[in-house]
Amino acid sequence: MKNKFLLVIITIMISMLWACSDDPAYKEGKIYNGFRLIENRFVEEVNANCLYFEHEKSGARLMKIAADDANKLFAVTFKTIPAHDYGTPHIIEHSVLNGSENFPVKSPFDLLAKGSLNTFLNAMTGSDFTTYPVASMNNKDYFNLMHVYMDAVFNPLLHSDPRIMKQEGWHYELDSVNGDIVYKGVVYNEMKGAFSSPDRQLSYHIDKILFPDNTYGVSSGGHPSAIPDLTYEYFKAFHKTYYHPSNSFVLLYGDADLDEELEFLDREYFSNYEKSDNNIEIPLQEPFAERKQAEESYSIAEGADTRDKTFLSYSFVTGLNTDRELVMALDILSDALVNHESAPLRLALQEAGIGKDVAARVSTDKQNVLQITVQNANPEDKERFKEVVFQTLNKVVEEGLDRETVEGIVNRMEFRLREGDSPQKGLMYLFSLKNSMFFWR
Ligand SMILES: [Zn+2]
Repeated sequence: MKNKFLLVIITIMISMLWACSDDPAYKEGKIYNGFRLIENRFVEEVNANCLYFEHEKSGARLMKIAADDANKLFAVTFKTIPAHDYGTPHIIEHSVLNGSENFPVKSPFDLLAKGSLNTFLNAMTGSDFTTYPVASMNNKDYFNLMHVYMDAVFNPLLHSDPRIMKQEGWHYELDSVNGDIVYKGVVYNEMKGAFSSPDRQLSYHIDKILFPDNTYGVSSGGHPSAIPDLTYEYFKAFHKTYYHPSNSFVLLYGDADLDEELEFLDREYFSNYEKSDNNIEIPLQEPFAERKQAEESYSIAEGADTRDKTFLSYSFVTGLNTDRELVMALDILSDALVNHESAPLRLALQEAGIGKDVAARVSTDKQNVLQITVQNANPEDKERFKEVVFQTLNKVVEEGLDRETVEGIVNRMEFRLREGDSPQKGLMYLFSLKNSMFFWR
């Protein structure tokens, strides 16, 4: 009797130990539904096992964050590298959601937006990627959403129906017999709106100057003046090149059954593809021999006063985005030097009477850009602006920053990274993974 009792205790203890260790069912090096498990590790910061797989046949990469969270997220992401301002990746992002082989309805996106239990449903085009994330608390709905999105990206009707590009990209329109022929199109109109903002025009020109030799110098969203140069042939070829499993990354987050997820993705999609040897890489921009200066203009209302409407901006390209320590340091520095209320550069520009508002930001592209921009300035402030920026930065190098201020910024950053400021944890992890998942190989 006593022995039996001891045995029960030992069994309970073993099963408890079993539950605490890394998921024992998944072993590194083994293949599960066509996916080879490369790494399986418990990550303390996300309080979950993270499993990284590569699909043997198609070359697709996949990460599962097996968090105990019912709000499951599925996202398929592609590296998309435009070479022109046509907005091709953006127009494709819209177009794939206009019907697919298994879901040949006009707008599966609208149907899902209304008829599903999703907690998040969207698609986004970044400067070097396009991502399709969906989230749901309901298991059946989650798999259904995954099916619709996978079919949209891999089997879209855009190849057989040229009207889709015309509708989402651009086409000619004539309102009346005697009227002018004008350009119309969902993305064309969207980008016309976006580029009416001087901020958008400023960042467009800065990117062009900083990255003349790689994709970051063009607008992935599309410039209204270039969108009508997009041809149907180029559009279809772009989808073919970039929307291949070998150039994709799937993120699965939450409490759905991993076996079921892998089995579905392998059976319905990835097993139909062979690995592509088209390795899509973005070359680094070489540094310039000397600092560049440029002047561009933007339109204001006719007859409006141009006084106090100049933007002055200083940008530095520094290091790689995969250097996470450097990126964090730059984030902290931009707050400590500029964005904080009593930041030295903010105060110095105020004192010099240059502009009304100053802000610094760090971009998240492959090479980091720290950008300091002052608004509501005037053209004659340019030389003084440069002087103040450099004098102040040199002074800070000599005298250092206020320790308490920096500690405050670091604490706020730590809190944000630990707790997250979004109820969509999966989505938050998608964006923090974005750079490393594409540039690590
Ligand atoms: Zn759009």
